[in-house]
Amino acid sequence: MRVRRFSRRTGSEGVAPVPKLEERGVKRVLLLVVLNLGLFAPAALAGAPLPGATAAPAKISAQRIAHHVELLASDAFEGRSPGTKGEDKTVAYIAERFRRAGLRPGFRGSWFQDVGLIRVEPSPSTTLTLSEDSGASAVLRQGKDVMLVNGRWEPDAAIDRSEVVFVGYGISAPSLGRDDYKGLNVAGRTVLMLAWAPETQAFAGAARIRYGLPTMKTAEAARRGAAAVLIVVPDDGWEQSLTAVRTRMLNPAGASPPGAPPIDGRIKRSVMQGLLASGETSLERLEQQAGQPGFRPAFLKLRATARLRSKVQRFNSRNVVGLLPGTERPAEHVLFVAHWDSFGLCATGAAEDRICNGALDNASGVGEMIELARLFASRGRLPRSVLFLAATGEEHGLLGSNHYVGDPALPLAGAVGGATLDMTAGRRRGTDLVLFGKGLSELDAYFERAASLQGRKLVAPRPDDAGYFERSDNMAFVRKGVPVLTPSGLWSEGAGRELLDRYEAESYHKPSDEFGAIASFEGAAEDGELLYHFGRELASTDDWPAWRKDSPYGALRPSRTTPKSGE
Ligand SMILES: [Zn+2]
Repeated sequence: MRVRRFSRRTGSEGVAPVPKLEERGVKRVLLLVVLNLGLFAPAALAGAPLPGATAAPAKISAQRIAHHVELLASDAFEGRSPGTKGEDKTVAYIAERFRRAGLRPGFRGSWFQDVGLIRVEPSPSTTLTLSEDSGASAVLRQGKDVMLVNGRWEPDAAIDRSEVVFVGYGISAPSLGRDDYKGLNVAGRTVLMLAWAPETQAFAGAARIRYGLPTMKTAEAARRGAAAVLIVVPDDGWEQSLTAVRTRMLNPAGASPPGAPPIDGRIKRSVMQGLLASGETSLERLEQQAGQPGFRPAFLKLRATARLRSKVQRFNSRNVVGLLPGTERPAEHVLFVAHWDSFGLCATGAAEDRICNGALDNASGVGEMIELARLFASRGRLPRSVLFLAATGEEHGLLGSNHYVGDPALPLAGAVGGATLDMTAGRRRGTDLVLFGKGLSELDAYFERAASLQGRKLVAPRPDDAGYFERSDNMAFVRKGVPVLTPSGLWSEGAGRELLDRYEAESYHKPSDEFGAIASFEGAAEDGELLYHFGRELASTDDWPAWRKDSPYGALRPSRTTPKSGE
């Protein structure tokens, strides 16, 4: 990665105006602290204009967000992988920014919540041998042809001449009329499956992610006792797919054994194609069969042998928690969540740039959240608390936020609702607001009002995007009944969308997700201002927005009200 400067955005000649920004920021905070002294009394009532707040509009500076992203996504932070020096720098930076913003340490008097994790790194010299009954065999190399990882934090796993069964997409979804296993016993066998889900109507929307995500498919295979999984990954998605599995991180308090088979593997499409070319069937033929309604699993007359050794380490990672305590009902709180982690050193040896800097994903969300925290704190406390959670380990399965909901800073019974900030920058101001989770809860009205203050329209995501709702930190809270949704202007149609499509194709989970590739931070600032209006209203009422009864989450939280004083 090259050194980049602010010049394009600021017009200055390649000199980053960072010190000046800082000075101005500090002065402004001091001024607002003076203006806001009166606010620390419980007089700040719902909807009433806050003293000091009326003087300045609720503005967030795009330049300040850019500054955070430039730092967090710089090579000095090493790609922010949990358990590295990059983590130390990252969590220290966020805590310091929360402190300067005027928040209080949010986790039992500390900025940090320890999150115990396990890292599993497979040996790079691992091989997988696929042999035919005739005796012919092929030895596949780790990282090049296949990637085998241990799904269960065990240092050793092995398969010895395990029968390979092609199970189509490896999906079992009876409610959608699909079961690729058709009752076949795969215990001890190696299941070969295609990536994602078939291109059919049934799997067009959220179901594509619910059933097609690798973790869902490997969990299904594990449940059926498979000894190994091999997912066929297209060559052009190979590097990207390896980023996510090369190092596996797990929560030791999570399911045991976790929902993955002992050997959780990927195989490059061209490699599988070559292996089958000489046999009775071809990969193209298998792919075609998998798409047919009457698909049945098939033995490939191949046997798989591998010995997988892994380095298994326990370590502590950290969530960062900042709090703006409520004046009247401090246990009731609004939540904002952004994950700070990225993938660290993620490219293979020879690559010139090996650091997955995670600028858009998700230094942008963290930068926006820091400025959101500053805006909240500068305009005084509200009747309810506002809690800011910078979570670890999202990329490895929402590890930090799942840990948090198991041991929350404030009891979850008091969590009113909130929002996740994930991949927020890139677009300019003035697009619609896409809400992941729209239509599920009464929070829609809050987002709608906040959007209309900016002259923006609240819209649902495109059907093929809708499943992202189930992939981000918000889901840890949703599963506990707390409505936390993910709003973002970046997913709206138009200019932002083009940028996002290009990003997904070229940079997502790759070293090229860099600060210099983000064209504008104005949209992130606009979304941040919207979240301020949203959060301020929610932290000022005694309303408890409920899940819609007909949503999948309707039964997770009983409807509740704030007890009136004297009750
Ligand atoms: Zn993310």
